Amino acid sequence: MTEQAREREVPVVHPVQPAASADTPIARAAQAAVVARSGGDAWPRPTSCRVITIANQKGGVGKTTSAVNLAAALAMHGCRVLVLDLDPQGNASTALDVDHRSGVPSVYDVLVDDQPLASVIRPVAGFAHLYCAPASIDLAGAEIELVPLVARESRLARALASYDASSLDYIFIDCPPSLGLLTVNSLVAAPEVLIPIQCEYYALEGLEQLLRTIELVRSHLNPRLSVTTILLTMYDGRTRLASQVADEVRDHFGSVVLRSVIPRSVRVSEAPSYGQSVMTYDPGSSGAVAYLEAAKELTGRTAELPA
Ligand code: ADP
Ligand code: MG
Repeated sequence: MTEQAREREVPVVHPVQPAASADTPIARAAQAAVVARSGGDAWPRPTSCRVITIANQKGGVGKTTSAVNLAAALAMHGCRVLVLDLDPQGNASTALDVDHRSGVPSVYDVLVDDQPLASVIRPVAGFAHLYCAPASIDLAGAEIELVPLVARESRLARALASYDASSLDYIFIDCPPSLGLLTVNSLVAAPEVLIPIQCEYYALEGLEQLLRTIELVRSHLNPRLSVTTILLTMYDGRTRLASQVADEVRDHFGSVVLRSVIPRSVRVSEAPSYGQSVMTYDPGSSGAVAYLEAAKELTGRTAELPA
C-alpha cells in the first residue's frame, strides 16, 4: 500500500468540511486558502500573548514542522501568530515562503545589531494574521558573535520585552538543533517550552540533557520557564516501536504530553517545498488534521498554565 493510500485509510475529521467538489488538489488548496484568509471557526484566544519555544537539540524531530503547522492552524482559526525563526538554516522561513536570503532584515539583526524585532517581521502570504521573523544564514555566525556581547543569553528576551506583542496571541520560536547560545536565548525569552519527540528509537536519548539545560536556564536566567507541552511526532502506526515510545513518554511526562499525535505523512514532508504549511497544502491529509487537533488542544491549555 502506498503511503498516500494508507493516509486515506485513517479516519479523519476534516478541518475544512470538504464540499463535494473539493476532491481535487486544486479545489482543496483553493478551499484552504479561503479558510486561511477568512478564518475557520474562531478558537479561544489567550488573554495575553503566549511565547512558546520549540526546542530539542536533536535534528529532524519535527521542531520546524510543528512550529509552522501549529502556527498556521492557529492563524486559520482567528489567532494572530508570529513564527520567530532562530535556526540559521531558515527552514521555517522557507516553509512560510518568507525571503531569508543573506542580507535581508532578519533575526540576526535583532540579536547582534539591536534592531527592533518589529523591523524584521514579515506577513505570511495567504493568511490574515500569520507573521514570520525570518532567519538568514548570517545567523550561523551569531553563535560566535554573541559571545563577547553583554547579556548574551538575554538578547532575544530583551528584544521581545521592547516589542509590543499586544497585537499577537502566540509567538512560536523555532530553535536550531543544538543547545548553543541561540537555543539558550530562546529559552530565556519564553515562559513555555514545547518539546517535539519523534516516535523512533533513540528518541529519548538526549532528552535528559535538554531537560538539564532547561532547568539550568530556569534556575539562573528565567524562573518562569517550564515545559508545558510535549508533542509526539512522526508516529508510524504500523510499528510497535512507535507505540512503545509514545507509551514511555506518556508514562514519564503525563498530562504535559498532548493527546494528539502527529503521524508520519508524506504530505507533511512535501508541503515545505511548495512554500506552504501542510494546513494549506493538503488540509484533508492526516498530518494536517493531526496538527489542527494539536493546535486546538494547545489553545485549551491556557487556563492550566501556572501563573
Ligand atoms: P527539525 O526542525 O526538528 O530539524 P523538521 O521539522 O525539519 O525537524 O523535520 C525533519 C524532516 O522530517 C523534514 O524533512 C520534515 O519535512 C520531515 N517531517 C517532519 N514531520 C513529519 C511527519 N509528520 N511526517 C513525515 N515527515 C515529516
Ligand atoms: Mg528545524
